[in-house]
Amino acid sequence: MRLFRALEPAAELRDALGRLAPQARRHCGGRRVPDENLHLTLAFLGEVDEARAERLSRWVSRLRPSPGSWTLDTFGSFRGPGIVWAGGSHPDPLLGGLHHRLWDELALQGFAPPAKAYTPHVTLVRRADSLDTSALPDFELHWHYHQVTLILSVLTDEGPRYYPLALSGQA
Ligand code: ATP
Ligand code: MG
Repeated sequence: MRLFRALEPAAELRDALGRLAPQARRHCGGRRVPDENLHLTLAFLGEVDEARAERLSRWVSRLRPSPGSWTLDTFGSFRGPGIVWAGGSHPDPLLGGLHHRLWDELALQGFAPPAKAYTPHVTLVRRADSLDTSALPDFELHWHYHQVTLILSVLTDEGPRYYPLALSGQA
């Protein structure tokens, strides 16, 4: 089972992010991420067997991540996978701290943190033709978060399907 831990946007924020995706696609080409798939990955766990996934689900349900707010105000891109994303123009210490603590928790469960630096981002478009985001309009969104979702990712020919398995934090 392919698992990751992520923030899922509330309905209003999902709609707002969903309006950015077609703008990004219009300028950069590629395939837009459907509204229901918009998320912010905090920790990618990769393949986990079913028994371990079950233990992990029970465990994360008892965790209480600190709530916070993240400002998204810029488009960005990753060259390798041809991704255009929405994110913050400045490093966010709160979100960086959350990411760090999540990996500290996960290390207790035997997961190794990534070697690469973390760039928080919401993927809007994949396989973009152009990564030039300079002509895209300005925007500012505020993501108030208080829970982290453990998500199962099932890769299909039509793209990934995400299934929430467990929540950390108050409902
Ligand atoms: P697809 O792989 O079909 O393009 P996807 O990337 O959305 O779809 P997954 O590969 O299952 O689906 O990834 C789930 C989430 O974890 C995504 O936010 C993805 O960017 C992130 N992710 C995937 N692989 C890694 C990795 N090696 N390191 C960090 N984050 C990753
Ligand atoms: Mg992927």
